[in-house]
Amino acid sequence: MSAHGADPSTLLRGADLVLTMDPFYGEGLLGAVEGCDVLIRAGAIAAVGRRLVPAPDTEMIDARGKVVLPGFVDAHTHLWQSAIRGRGAALGLYEWFSACVWTVVPRIRPSDMYRFVRLSAADALQSGTTTAVDWVPALDYEVSEAYLEAVSDSGLRFAHAAYQQPADADLAAKVLTGLVAPHPLGTPQVATVAHRDAPDHLRVHAELARELDVHLNLHLLEHRTDRSGDPVALLEEAGALGPKTLLNHVIHATGAELDLLARRGAAVAHCPLSNMRLGTGVMPLREIHRRGIRAGLGQDGGANDSADMFASMKAAVGLQRAVSQDPTGHPGPEEALYMATMGGARAIGQDDRIGSLTPGKRADVAVIDPAALNLAPCGARPAQIVFGGRPENVTDVFVDGVARKRAGRPTGEDPARLVAEAETAARALWEGAART
Ligand SMILES: [Zn+2]
Repeated sequence: MSAHGADPSTLLRGADLVLTMDPFYGEGLLGAVEGCDVLIRAGAIAAVGRRLVPAPDTEMIDARGKVVLPGFVDAHTHLWQSAIRGRGAALGLYEWFSACVWTVVPRIRPSDMYRFVRLSAADALQSGTTTAVDWVPALDYEVSEAYLEAVSDSGLRFAHAAYQQPADADLAAKVLTGLVAPHPLGTPQVATVAHRDAPDHLRVHAELARELDVHLNLHLLEHRTDRSGDPVALLEEAGALGPKTLLNHVIHATGAELDLLARRGAAVAHCPLSNMRLGTGVMPLREIHRRGIRAGLGQDGGANDSADMFASMKAAVGLQRAVSQDPTGHPGPEEALYMATMGGARAIGQDDRIGSLTPGKRADVAVIDPAALNLAPCGARPAQIVFGGRPENVTDVFVDGVARKRAGRPTGEDPARLVAEAETAARALWEGAART
């Protein structure tokens, strides 16, 4: 059931191109099939094939001329950070933390947190993102409640990585087990930090993640000065490196450290637009790929200012080419599309449920219309989508089979209202700050 009807069946009929991301169903890395239908039933992908025959009550969507692919998986973000969009425009990472994060989060009231998160989630959905992996700073319980109510009301699939001071680890556990785990679209994760100056953080959080059997999610070697905390050795000593460890940024890692991450099976999230905005560096993505480390793409919230996965894919390709002066290496456009979908799903251990249009998986689907001024005429489609695509080219988005965007329009709350409410919340936050 959903706010928009009871488990509808939907047939996306006759798409020009379906990028299943499953080589079993189509050609190449992206599992591409031309002239293909996708049937959604009871929230799952029921079938992918040519000239499918639907049940009589199936909603039909004419997908001729369109490209159908799995919804994007934003492997690292901070949904609350619509609160700080456009701010700290010339600050480096730690100055930006001070001005835009540490001093701001404690001042956000629950009702305003709802508005900021709701805006970000709606922006993600309208851009074709169906899953967001959210690293969430220390919040009071009632603020966490408002936060999760906003994500829930949006219809976005999410992983909620809760951070708390070690002394408050019980609060993180209460939020994760009481609010996130019961949610049909939610996955609990434990957020942490790794630094020699605060070793108890990693010890307590790694223990909680093991206890709950969930992912441990942290920023790693984002800034060159982070090397002083020796975080990779600290992670290894704490036994915290494994397949359920998601490491964000990983810019300033040595080759030996990358070797260790590969051996332990840890995954990474690459956030190129955030790294560019904050001037933190360029992830050694080719080195990471060469070692077989799972990698997804992330937006990183307000350090990026948008939920535009097309821009992130383009930047992921472009940064590696610019640094290497080699336009042939990893990632090409197809690999960027894979990172933005299956790569993210694999990085968070959910590739058995999402990330590809494999029958049986949950129906998280995006439809792109290339008949637009910025995309026509038709060329090599994956490259065209990565280099020229924009959120407004996404016409339809389904999460768990429920339409969250149809024919170019969000199906939920009126965007104008979400914008107005976020403006009200931002005024309360920033004008309040000016008075104090
Ligand atoms: Zn981040």
